[in-house]
Amino acid sequence: MLTDTHCHLFYDEIKNDLANVLKRALELGVDRFICVATNIEDAKECLSLSKAHENIYGSAGVHPHDSKDAPEDYIDQIHRLMDDDSMVAVGEMGLDYFRNISDPQIQKDVFRVQMEIAKELNKPIIFHNRDADEDVASILSEYPDVTGVAHCFSSDLETAKRFIELGYYISFSGNLTFKNSHLPEVAKQISLEHILVETDCPYLSPVPHRGKTNEPGRVRFVAEKLSDIHRTPLEKIATITSNNATELFRL
Ligand SMILES: [Zn+2]
Ligand SMILES: [Zn+2]
Repeated sequence: MLTDTHCHLFYDEIKNDLANVLKRALELGVDRFICVATNIEDAKECLSLSKAHENIYGSAGVHPHDSKDAPEDYIDQIHRLMDDDSMVAVGEMGLDYFRNISDPQIQKDVFRVQMEIAKELNKPIIFHNRDADEDVASILSEYPDVTGVAHCFSSDLETAKRFIELGYYISFSGNLTFKNSHLPEVAKQISLEHILVETDCPYLSPVPHRGKTNEPGRVRFVAEKLSDIHRTPLEKIATITSNNATELFRL
């Protein structure tokens, strides 16, 4: 069975149809879900979902886009939200210089604060990185005790190796399946023991559903692509990547 290590189940299009979404996921061989927050309000929804469903786990954190709007007491709030055993990671946090919706300095400050929280709580992090390889790697290296995952990896092989050396997993999403993507070449050079799979739904729906609202079951298409790339049976891809998720998030 597969684990979708990064999904946003709290958006209306998914939340309002959750029972069917989860049923379809099961039919596609996906039975565990990490519901990832992008801000404090989302994190509350992650917590209520993870408390209500045995196979849904949650995270609490502030996305780089949301850093500028983080409430004053967000540190306390993350601590409080992480108090429940079903909350397995801090994130998503990180840097996004592609859109720069929050000022880069604010992004860096809020990223570091959350690295501190993860260190204190001894929890893995989920980080988002777009066009910020250098700064992300440098901040990660300031916290050698913290591990986690490079979610929706889209950088080059050298960056992947750097993140792996720093103790992080590389997570591939639907963009691994996109035509003309450089990512299959990157994924080929990475040992399966360092790889996770995710949908990042409702975004980034994989081929053959590109452009549609994505949902967790479709992590199967990411795993199938990985199976082609690594010439490894899908079942084995599922076992290895799910075991990686179990280990990282202590599921
Ligand atoms: Zn992200
Ligand atoms: Zn996300």
